[in-house]
Amino acid sequence: MPKLIINRAGAAENATGVPALQLVKMKSGLSKRHLRVIRTLPNLRHAIAELRARQRTVALVPTMGALHAGHFSLVKIAQRRADRIIVSIFVNPTQFAPNEDLSTYPRTWSADLAALMELKADAVWAPSVETMYPEGFATRIVPEGPATVRLEDAFRPHFFAGVATVVAKLLIQCEPDVAMFGEKDYQQLKVVTRLARDLGLRTRIIGAPVVREKDGLALSSRNRYLTPEERAAAPALYRVLKECAGRIRAGGPVEAVLDDGRAAITRAGFALDYLDARNAETLAPLAAPTVEPIRLLVAARIGTTRLIDNLRV
Ligand code: AMP
Repeated sequence: MPKLIINRAGAAENATGVPALQLVKMKSGLSKRHLRVIRTLPNLRHAIAELRARQRTVALVPTMGALHAGHFSLVKIAQRRADRIIVSIFVNPTQFAPNEDLSTYPRTWSADLAALMELKADAVWAPSVETMYPEGFATRIVPEGPATVRLEDAFRPHFFAGVATVVAKLLIQCEPDVAMFGEKDYQQLKVVTRLARDLGLRTRIIGAPVVREKDGLALSSRNRYLTPEERAAAPALYRVLKECAGRIRAGGPVEAVLDDGRAAITRAGFALDYLDARNAETLAPLAAPTVEPIRLLVAARIGTTRLIDNLRV
């Protein structure tokens, strides 16, 4: 079992008279055998500078914690693409609306750290809300393009400005060579890819396939909210996506296929937010369905839980 070194910044370490980072460095360095938990910007900067000085490539895997096999797959893919892996764990308040689940969002810190140690991730960047949004914070990134195509943005109008702002901050703070994002949040992946390009960041954004349960339900930290009955109904989303993709691939008329899909999702007990077929790159409505790359995207609520999923046609 690798050794865990928790770097609690602040009073405790200052009381020893030794800066937090030195304490950690004496014990570890960012090596494959240790998981370093970094909580302050000076310590993060020091760790990044050290890696750069040693010519290590760095991958960032941004998460909100409550880690599951979907997150782990991002870490594993990242390990094939970079020398050192930083996983950020930050439940970003600015991407939750007041009526959403910020206060009840699952937090499983100890299990997350144990899993990341097992995976041999190198560092966890776990800033406080005050570090990310200091007193008087007044700079937001408000994305357009794929962030304004009337999918998630139509139902969560605050969401992409929150995501874009926090992701831009994470990418600027960590300066990774690559950053991993799941196709599970397909619109988010497109927004972040655009953002990195538009801001001229060094980071290459890499999308990773959706990890699913055996019955097709896409893994999500929010699945734990489902009651047994809701959990039993939930795979309908993926089933319908697959049926619709198959029919469209076979030349079925897109709107009629989607209408059938929408009815099937409602029959399964969901309140549908959207099921749509979009250009897989721009997320614009389809102009020429026979030649464009198509992605099906769905969002629906069951009980108090909102699930999203998507599938390539
Ligand atoms: P979250 O912690 O929900 O913000 O997700 C962190 C990252 O993990 C995002 O890039 C998600 O798209 C990705 N992710 C979440 N669930 C899955 C999944 N089932 N398969 C692949 N990636 C996922």
